[in-house]
Amino acid sequence: MIYFTYTEMACRCGCGTLELEPGFGPGLDGLRGEYGWPLPATSVCRCPDWNWHENGHENSLHLTKNKLWKVKTCAADVRRPGPDRLAVLVRVALARGFSVGIHDDFVHLDWRTKALDRPAKLFTYR
Ligand SMILES: [Zn+2]
Ligand SMILES: [Zn+2]
Repeated sequence: MIYFTYTEMACRCGCGTLELEPGFGPGLDGLRGEYGWPLPATSVCRCPDWNWHENGHENSLHLTKNKLWKVKTCAADVRRPGPDRLAVLVRVALARGFSVGIHDDFVHLDWRTKALDRPAKLFTYR
């Protein structure tokens, strides 16, 4: 990947697991490239223990081994930018096929459309 480090992408529990659904890494790089500003990733790959710790959904697309959907990690949380850049990020992400969840502290980006053939979503955590 061009814009994201191993440390940003791997599971944060210390296990270091990094398994991405094919194409998701380049997809994130493409998004970051078009967006054009720093986009630090705060949570990408999660082993089951860490997903539980992070209060992730049991079938979260952050899981490196998703039992329901049979996919590797195809979701990334990135630090939420200010309102001007947030508008650009959401526009670019939706145009590139990501689903987008807006939290107070981060923006969740996932590939449910490309990896699961599910409709795209734009949502908040409230
Ligand atoms: Zn882990
Ligand atoms: Zn997320």
